[in-house]
Amino acid sequence: MSTLANAFSSSSDSTAIVIPGSPTLEISYKRLHADVTTFQKKLAALGISPGSAVSIALPNSYPFIVAFIAASWQRAIAAPLNPAYKQSEFEFYIDDLSSALVLVPQGQAEGLAVKAARKYNAAVAECYLDPRTQEVVLDVKDNGKLAGQGDRPLETAQPEDTALVLHTSGTTGRPKAVPLSHRNLTRTMLNIRDTYKLSASDRTMLVMPLFHVHGLLAGFLAPLASGGSVIIPGAFSASTFWKHFVQYKANWYTAVPTMHQILLKTPAAWPKPLPEIRFIRSCSSPLSPKVFHDLEKAFGAPVLEAYAMTEAAHQMTSNPLPPSKRQPGSVGLGQGVEVKILDQEGNEVQQGKEGEISIRGENVTKGYLNNAKANAEAFTKGGFFRTGDQGKKDEDGYVIITGRIKELINKGGEKISPIELDNVLAQHPAVSEAVSFAMEDELYGQEVGVALVLKEGGAGLSEQELKDWMTQRVAKFKVPKRVFFTDNMPKTATGKIQRRNVATAMLEKDK
Ligand code: ATP
Ligand code: MG
Repeated sequence: MSTLANAFSSSSDSTAIVIPGSPTLEISYKRLHADVTTFQKKLAALGISPGSAVSIALPNSYPFIVAFIAASWQRAIAAPLNPAYKQSEFEFYIDDLSSALVLVPQGQAEGLAVKAARKYNAAVAECYLDPRTQEVVLDVKDNGKLAGQGDRPLETAQPEDTALVLHTSGTTGRPKAVPLSHRNLTRTMLNIRDTYKLSASDRTMLVMPLFHVHGLLAGFLAPLASGGSVIIPGAFSASTFWKHFVQYKANWYTAVPTMHQILLKTPAAWPKPLPEIRFIRSCSSPLSPKVFHDLEKAFGAPVLEAYAMTEAAHQMTSNPLPPSKRQPGSVGLGQGVEVKILDQEGNEVQQGKEGEISIRGENVTKGYLNNAKANAEAFTKGGFFRTGDQGKKDEDGYVIITGRIKELINKGGEKISPIELDNVLAQHPAVSEAVSFAMEDELYGQEVGVALVLKEGGAGLSEQELKDWMTQRVAKFKVPKRVFFTDNMPKTATGKIQRRNVATAMLEKDK
């Protein structure tokens, strides 16, 4: 397996995809293969050729999947976009890749994505499943810059072709465009398959968006490469999650900690008896040891925390399946990926010492698009990619993330890890969610600020009480200077915390 063209069966009658609904759609591998082939022909007829960027502004759905795979087979670059973006965001991404074509859902030919597409002369098409013919339709509304380009030959994808461009989440700055080749993607698919011993008998619930690597690689492509089935419901809710989980006999899922917490907080929706869950994967944001234990207890399944980033085509490390040890608070071991902890000069630090988590493997991007400066900073002479995350290895070699180098709170030279503080705060009985961040400070340069969402009934907690509680648990210099109470923690589409944004939102409210 080295391209998406040979990554899954073309002839199997077993179920690749289940789309719950009335009626529920069950799609075999054979049909998926045929539908992708047909759609590739439509793209070629429209003028999509090697290197063309196809922006896919579709929700998690069968048309998304068919369009994504078909574009990659045609040696084009698939560029999934969050359909909920504002017009300025669509404009940024469509312009950044000079998209040739923008795909939108049925009936949205006048939507924000289309307005942005027209501004940059990209072609526009509605893409949807025709309920009558069961065909994935490519309904071209405007040929844009593809006018006169039609009737291109059908292509065969090559391992080094860029199959996908996604942007980083923009947690620490402007999002960076990350090209991922067929080889990068298929390597991750194999790594994830091997980490969790995925097979044709596994069935997973996809709850993460397909427009980020978490959902696309771990939630969808890796299970597909294993011959298993992927259940793709519409919007996420705790009650439909469990209903579908039981009805379609899922046996594992992957999600961000926020989603695990939503499931934990809604015991009324838990099925009785609970289904047999082979494992639960958590990734993309830190999973506090408390949520880890709560999840294992509530759902009776091993919880495996993994560590991933866009530049690595998702997964780098994961805790292993039992009987191997899983370590709460750790993201586990490199999985088909070499992991070293490096100092500023690029030398490996001693075990147990902190440094920058750095990785090497076939899954890692060759480098950001049009960003020579970032590339020069990101790769070491030995070909290791610097993740920007600070961490260490414990005595068993398990990786522990201690913060983002750019997010460390620097209080007069004393470096404070916001993740460490978040984990301590999460243990307070009245705290539901805690996010620590750097605040400008005249005396120290930076000080510790904390945003807290309290549990129901926890509203009596005062700022001073919380500071006193922290004073008993962490060194004095780490005790927050300011505590902000809020009902709503600002987050990205994948539930990521952008500490800068939280800081801005809290200080704004304070004015
Ligand atoms: P940008 O690079 O634009 O600042 P980003 O790094 O958030 O944004 P992504 O590629 O979506 O963009 O996220 C990768 C980052 O997510 C990792 O570098 C790491 O900081 C964080 N991350 C992923 N998994 C975990 C985890 N299990 N625990 C803690 N942090 C994690
Ligand atoms: Mg990053």
